[in-house]
Amino acid sequence: MLRQENSVQLGNSTVASQSIECGTSIASHKPLVIVLSGSNHCSTCLRVTTLKHCAKCKEIAYCSISCQKTGWIDACHKAWCGKEADDWTDDERLIARLGYIMQIPGTEQRIFEGLLESNDCDISMRIADRIAAKTGFLKCNIRCWARKNLRNSFTILDDCFREIGLGVYPSASANYNHSCWPNAIYFFKGRDLVIKAIRDLEPNTEIQIAYLDIRKPEQERKTYLKEVYSFDCICEACEGFGWMRGLGELRRTADSQDRMIGNIDNYLTLARLSIDNILENRTNISFDWLSLEINQFSSVPQLFNYMAIRLCSEAFEDSLEQQDWPKATKYGLLVLNFYLHVLPFGYPVTGIFAGDLCAVMFNERHLQKTGEDISFMKRIVEFARWNLQKTIGGSLLDNVDIVMEELDKLT
Ligand SMILES: [Zn+2]
Ligand SMILES: [Zn+2]
Ligand SMILES: [Zn+2]
Repeated sequence: MLRQENSVQLGNSTVASQSIECGTSIASHKPLVIVLSGSNHCSTCLRVTTLKHCAKCKEIAYCSISCQKTGWIDACHKAWCGKEADDWTDDERLIARLGYIMQIPGTEQRIFEGLLESNDCDISMRIADRIAAKTGFLKCNIRCWARKNLRNSFTILDDCFREIGLGVYPSASANYNHSCWPNAIYFFKGRDLVIKAIRDLEPNTEIQIAYLDIRKPEQERKTYLKEVYSFDCICEACEGFGWMRGLGELRRTADSQDRMIGNIDNYLTLARLSIDNILENRTNISFDWLSLEINQFSSVPQLFNYMAIRLCSEAFEDSLEQQDWPKATKYGLLVLNFYLHVLPFGYPVTGIFAGDLCAVMFNERHLQKTGEDISFMKRIVEFARWNLQKTIGGSLLDNVDIVMEELDKLT
């Protein structure tokens, strides 16, 4: 399904050797090392259930004898069991575990040796000092692992896309380039990192994942990519043509202006119309149509200001806590409008958010007997269901199905 290529401009890259349908799992990668932040998840299968801690170090926990055996041998826990200090941060743990595991010969170890380091030499001496004092590793080696780690580690996400830890997956780091408009995502099955296509891919398309949060403004993305990965991003979102260029310009204007959004009711009509329009037409990705769509926002760039949208997300979360459904609906619609335009349709963040928002709109409608049109709500739920089916599935998809059933009862 895939083939590896190498060129001067792109370094290693991975290319589709045949057509690949949106939602297909296209590759799976083993970790060299992972660190989980809390102690809720089994260290081998990442399930949340009753766990037993390692009797010797009490640092990590497993759900079963078989997960413990796998962890001890395959995940090399025997290399670093009992060798961590209590007050290390997750980063420090990851780097120290790397140190122990790099002493064991293996394929992933060899690939890790070949990975590039971040240029950022500001990796604190304190980290190196602290790890060296406890482990006896050379400080220069620790700093090298830390710089490689900065450039190559992945955030581990649970099946609701919440961050639960960090992992180093050398074969994944070595093979996928970045785009701020990616055609693939990574998620986790147990400890393994799985790559999934989020668009239909033609043969010879390069597989691209996002190395950062692609909701962020262009300048912030570019600065980060340059600092950590030493390249100038020329992806579709940064340097694209057609409607992508229009979207880039709109976002640049929006982010350079005042972020205050004032009375949000003024923006809601347009956001609602646009959500409806884009969901109705999303299978037809035409430059003409999407350019017109983006053009509509030129008089209200505030709706594409990243900081304004972040404030709206916070207001959405606060309103959820207060169970203020009408208020949550308003803020949520502004956020969904932004996501539907600035993220690829198959990007899970949008599906997860659309699912949450629909549950909120359903509550409003159900309790107050007023609120959004059922057909509008259904269009959003259908989108959430399509997105989650193609991406992470699981319990979030079950929740969306429940909302859909309830909506069906209302019609
Ligand atoms: Zn387990
Ligand atoms: Zn242990
Ligand atoms: Zn870019």
